[in-house]
Amino acid sequence: MLNVLFSAQPERWDEYRAPLTNAFAKAGLEVDLAQSHTPADVDYIIFAPNGPVTDFSPYTKTKAIMSLWAGVETVVDNATLTQPLCRLVDDSLTNGMVEWVVGHTLRHHLGMDAHITKQDGTWDNFIYPPIAAHRPVTILGIGALGAACGQALHALGFPVTGWSRRAKDIPNIRCLHGDDGLRTALTGAQIVILLLPQTPQTTNILTGDTLALMAKGSSVINPGRGPLIDDAALLAALDSGHIAHATLDVFRIEPLPPQDPYWAHPQVTVTPHIASSTRPETAAEVIVENISRGEAGKPFRYLVDRGRGY
Ligand code: NAP
Repeated sequence: MLNVLFSAQPERWDEYRAPLTNAFAKAGLEVDLAQSHTPADVDYIIFAPNGPVTDFSPYTKTKAIMSLWAGVETVVDNATLTQPLCRLVDDSLTNGMVEWVVGHTLRHHLGMDAHITKQDGTWDNFIYPPIAAHRPVTILGIGALGAACGQALHALGFPVTGWSRRAKDIPNIRCLHGDDGLRTALTGAQIVILLLPQTPQTTNILTGDTLALMAKGSSVINPGRGPLIDDAALLAALDSGHIAHATLDVFRIEPLPPQDPYWAHPQVTVTPHIASSTRPETAAEVIVENISRGEAGKPFRYLVDRGRGY
């Protein structure tokens, strides 16, 4: 019998209990899944950073922490965490992000706001967008989410450049890396999408200097993490018109305070960290599959590298 602790916000328990129970049964694992266990008896923790467990030191026999979130920046440097940490990689989470990114990219590409917000009886059909092939898109971060978004945007005809830490070779994406690669990736980009994890190296990756490399009148879409952007620099670039629009899903402080200048800025769209959510049915299957691997003596998938921070 495995003792599995579910440590997330209490209201998540009702959503996850049945999918996890079913997935454990399907995997043939006998599990006592509960919101409370004696710490020293816990084999695995299914974990959300906003749940009750913050000190991992009493979990002396715990074999792995299975995160319900893809982003692990709030737990990766927890000094009490000595157990392996696996982040969430799940097709539903990925597909949700692809849909959100494609939707917001097409909004900016097609200039949809002009028609959605201005129904004033003016028949003005002289302004039309370029075809996607003439709209270079750059994705900073081409991991599980960024690479999938890149494939979808390529399928629509956009020339896609991606930037990562290590050299990569992904079909349909011009792959760049390193400091020089960042400057090349941003130079002339008309839509920049941020899908980097939050680490000390990625914090403030968009500053006045790097924003200036983007094409005049370009757009920023950030479903990654708030600290990737120097907010004052972005606001200045929006005010100057160099950046035409920013769609922001994530912020340094969440919920974004009502007095934050982003809310009132006419060139900013705020979405409340909804770009893609973890879906209990599929997340349960991914996590149970990973626990099954551990029980079978196989290496865990999606292990976070504590040194690199993601
Ligand atoms: P991932 O698979 O780990 O991919 C991360 C990408 O960022 C990789 O390509 C990685 O490069 C690159 N990267 C990391 N550090 C870098 C650096 N210093 N310089 C250049 N590139 C760097 O992560 P993922 O699953 O795609 O998720 C990405 C992020 O999306 C998460 O961390 C989370 O913050 C965010 N997210 C947001 C939502 C939402 O609803 N808004 C939902 C889910 C996730 P390598 O390929 O070389 O490792």
